[in-house]
Amino acid sequence: MNDSLDPLAWIDDKLGVLEARGLRRWPMVRESGQGAEIDVDGQRLVNFGSNDYLNLAGDERLAAAVRGALEERDGGARFGGAGASPLVTGRSAWHARLETRLAEFNRAEAALVFSSGFAANCATIAALVGAGDAVFSDERNHASIIDGCRLSRAETFVYRHGDAGHLDELLGGYTRQGKRLIVTDTVFSMDGDVAPLVEIADVARRRGAMLMTDEAHATGVFGANGRGVAEALGVCDAVDVHVGTLSKALGCAGGFVTGSRRLIDWLFNRARAYVFSTAPPDFVCAAACAALDVVRDEPERRADLLATAERLRTRFTEQGWDTGRSCTQIVPIVVGDAKRAMDFAESLRSRGLFVPGIRPPTVALGRSLLRVSLTAGHSAEHIERLVEAVIGEAADELRGISGDRV
Ligand SMILES: *Cc1c(COP(=O)(O)O)cnc(C)c1O
Repeated sequence: MNDSLDPLAWIDDKLGVLEARGLRRWPMVRESGQGAEIDVDGQRLVNFGSNDYLNLAGDERLAAAVRGALEERDGGARFGGAGASPLVTGRSAWHARLETRLAEFNRAEAALVFSSGFAANCATIAALVGAGDAVFSDERNHASIIDGCRLSRAETFVYRHGDAGHLDELLGGYTRQGKRLIVTDTVFSMDGDVAPLVEIADVARRRGAMLMTDEAHATGVFGANGRGVAEALGVCDAVDVHVGTLSKALGCAGGFVTGSRRLIDWLFNRARAYVFSTAPPDFVCAAACAALDVVRDEPERRADLLATAERLRTRFTEQGWDTGRSCTQIVPIVVGDAKRAMDFAESLRSRGLFVPGIRPPTVALGRSLLRVSLTAGHSAEHIERLVEAVIGEAADELRGISGDRV
């Protein structure tokens, strides 16, 4: 077809540009269930790329909860899609049960379940602030927060990563009348570092701004009860809007917000991705309740995970690798150059280890890295294989085998 008659022809050009820059992504197929070992495109790999931190995505207890929820509905004869917005007829007893559980989990007055963490962030920010208001957002916040800020049409001020002083300065310089919202990830997904929540909470209190935290990578992992970084740092009460996911450590799908009754009432009425979106299937809520049971009953899962991460960082840094400011189950190996990171990832993959390479624009120029995500499912042998391979890679480079990659 003549290009001038083909209104989508530009897509070929744009995809071509991505491909030429080595940035085009191709879908892969995971043939196995999610877990510490996976089969991808016919290859068995030790999986250091998932967010399934507590190894619950393939847990039999969650599967049993799903079967149970289907059985109890009309004698198990029906599938159980929610079929409508929660405001119409989509909300079920399981949604109500899960929201009660989540409110208890976070010791909050109320909770609201969204079909994804992405939706929870976007919809919540846009429901809290609008034109004439201001959002103050960490420069490394997740895409869903960035999109939420744009969607809200509030003026957005981006503060330097983890810099509560800069945040304070920006808030101090903002003299307009509107509402002010501070929003931050608690665990940052690429560097595995943690936001200075004590200092941020102090700024929020002094400046009278709302504080929203996204605990996506911390739910179930941090804090004595697994509530997240705010719990670990003792600042839960300073957080006005707590966002978490069911889709990472809890092994399910969905996002949630907990907070005061009036906050949740407002979101129920005004968060558009909640109001105008079909509720998640209620059997997912049943699985999430089972996952919350595990978080409550097996605190050693999160303790062991964080201890393993600590040991892994020590092993890497002893070998001269840079793990940045990681202090979580996400352990980056910062290699700098983008091509070197991708070659490194490829070399590990050829040894049966899946560790995603991360490059710009996801990370800053010159900060390309391999992102090791640990889960409770990794055995000592898995970890040992990774360490050996990374050490082997360093030795190869010293011998100049891959020296031309740099
Ligand atoms: C993954 C992630 C989300 C989105 O959660 P989903 O449930 O996967 O949509 C939100 N915030 C952060 C920081 C995340 O890493």
